[in-house]
Amino acid sequence: MEKAKMKSARAGTKTGTAAPRKRRKRLPKGAYSQDEVTEIFHRFSVQRPEPKGELEHVNAYTLLVAVVLSAQATDAGVNKATRALFAAADTPQKMLGLGEDKVREHIRTIGLYRNKAKNVIALSKALIEDHGGEVPPDRDALVELPGVGRKTANVVLNMAFGQPTMAVDTHIFRIANRVRLAPGKTVDDVEENLLRTIPDQFLQHGHHWLILHGRYVCKARKPDCAACVIADICKSKEKTCDIPAALVPVEQKAIS
Ligand code: SF4
Repeated sequence: MEKAKMKSARAGTKTGTAAPRKRRKRLPKGAYSQDEVTEIFHRFSVQRPEPKGELEHVNAYTLLVAVVLSAQATDAGVNKATRALFAAADTPQKMLGLGEDKVREHIRTIGLYRNKAKNVIALSKALIEDHGGEVPPDRDALVELPGVGRKTANVVLNMAFGQPTMAVDTHIFRIANRVRLAPGKTVDDVEENLLRTIPDQFLQHGHHWLILHGRYVCKARKPDCAACVIADICKSKEKTCDIPAALVPVEQKAIS
């Protein structure tokens, strides 16, 4: 009798006493041991102790707008347009005061500027009406805003509110698969796989380290393996060099 009870308790939900467990999605395994992953991120942390995003902003609201404008555009191109825009309007109220026509004029050098101007005005209105003019520190609320998707929400949560999110952009998606750090067929799978793979102590800065590594070293067309601090650990088939570059801090310059 006692044995039968124990068996059904271990079996979980059959007796109706245990809460059903949510199954974790099966994701492709990365190519690295936990020690190797820790060493990779340790080296990134030595190289860039305080990594920053390259989109210029002065508060959570201007960060949100800059990230919305950066879809299919370069950070340098967005920065050129937003310097004057944010000098004129750095709050949702001021942006509404500026109006869609003037916003469009400021950002006309950025791709898809007509739609983006509409979204900037609409999201400013929504922030005032639904959130007291503040950017909400909550993913579900952020993705409800016009022009804001999961990646944008993750960037804002990480940079403005210090949450350990993983905003998977084109660089991170490429590296996760090329280096087989956290492979996945979709952006969501790579995000989930990276969150499971990266040790907690490195999660806060993880996405910036990967973006900067992808932008300046493990580049899309041809990875610059001779300049790579993890060349001895990397298991990419595209690797061209086994000797790691000197592990020294690099200065992060503002891009213009
Ligand atoms: S060794 Fe080459 S392929 Fe591997 S992470 Fe470094 S740059 Fe990328």
